[in-house]
Amino acid sequence: MNQPATGGDPGRNFLSVADARSAILESIEPVIGWERVAVRSALGRILAEDVIAPCNVPAHDNSAMDGYAVRAADLAAGADSALTVVGTAFAGKPFSGIVGLGQAARIMTGAEIPEGADTIVVQEVVRREDNRVFVPPGQRAGQNLRRAGEDLALGGTALAAGSRCGPAELGLIASLGIAEIIVHRRLRVAFFSTGDEIATIGRPLAPGQVYDSNRYTLYGALSRLGCELIDMGVVADNPSALEAAFADAAQAADVIITSGGVSVGEADFIREMMTRMGEVSFWKLAIKPGRPMAFGRIGNARLFGLPGNPVAVLVTFYQFVQDALLKLMGVSPLPAPGLFEVICTDTIRKQAGRCEYLRGRMSRTDGRISVAQAGAQGSGILRSMSEADCFIVLPEDCIGVQAGERVLVQPFDGLV
Ligand code: AMP
Ligand code: MG
Repeated sequence: MNQPATGGDPGRNFLSVADARSAILESIEPVIGWERVAVRSALGRILAEDVIAPCNVPAHDNSAMDGYAVRAADLAAGADSALTVVGTAFAGKPFSGIVGLGQAARIMTGAEIPEGADTIVVQEVVRREDNRVFVPPGQRAGQNLRRAGEDLALGGTALAAGSRCGPAELGLIASLGIAEIIVHRRLRVAFFSTGDEIATIGRPLAPGQVYDSNRYTLYGALSRLGCELIDMGVVADNPSALEAAFADAAQAADVIITSGGVSVGEADFIREMMTRMGEVSFWKLAIKPGRPMAFGRIGNARLFGLPGNPVAVLVTFYQFVQDALLKLMGVSPLPAPGLFEVICTDTIRKQAGRCEYLRGRMSRTDGRISVAQAGAQGSGILRSMSEADCFIVLPEDCIGVQAGERVLVQPFDGLV
């Protein structure tokens, strides 16, 4: 694939975060494939077609309050109006009569508006005497009604193709009485760790080894996205093992994600193997942590070669891979980056020329949100990610932060 123009510090040929993101996103299209699933199974899935409302929601004009259904024309402007109560409308048990001249019906929240009535007066403001109700002046014609179709109108697009189904979408689909919908098939993602020193968990560590944590952070991040996972374990820095792993992954998956071996290191055969087996660019990104990253394809599979350092894996995953996976999954439009400004309580030193993603922790004092760094910031210190609840994003041109200045943060968790 073509190497996009480099940004960042041009002298050192670094690629800016924005350029890398757009190069990735522009070069991928959603994968083809759909399936029909029951509403509950659609949680986290992406709609493959618009959901068209087969009915109005609400289905009927109904009352938003407990009170009395009246005719606005019966109400006097300057005095109480006395009306005769002729029946009661319950939710699910309509009043079958008609509210005539000078009449009212008792009505409960959600009950269908009886014929003849056009306005709801809340029960708290009226006076009731036997079968008569006294309505004070000051009511507005049509008040406290929920109109048929005001939530979702018959024939309208209730949800657009490309929407990701969260709790609200499941409820919305159910509110239309729809039991099954068409979603994009799950994205198949193969992933493995590389490196001779990487040890599988559950066994004693030999001298010089480190336990494989990247495969677990990636497992977590990919599972949350709803991908179908193909965990290929740890692959040694060995040409034939790597070749076999890439060949298997390219056969089985839409996307291959590796960690380690993409910087220029002596025993890292992975760069060589990626180049030989596919079309891959090796980027030096203007980012910290996470400078080296490979992107391209092997066979029909997209390839993301992430750096080896555990924090760099997560930073590059969230800044480059996640949206790419969402696009491949069929999500459209992609979610807006969740960035906002808060006061930083730390003084932070920084060089211009690269975007830094520090791990931060937000707190609220006197109603104001502020952020501080979450522990030591080395790219191998995974604890900083675990203790953090946001990235502090310092853009390329930032040359440091004084305590009390505002910084951009990107929270880890959204509500829905
Ligand atoms: P590399 O990019 O392969 O040179 O790796 C950079 C650093 O990340 C080295 O210190 C590796 O030991 C470490 N590393 C690589 N892969 C993993 C992994 N799967 N789990 C934990 N640390 C890793
Ligand atoms: Mg390595």
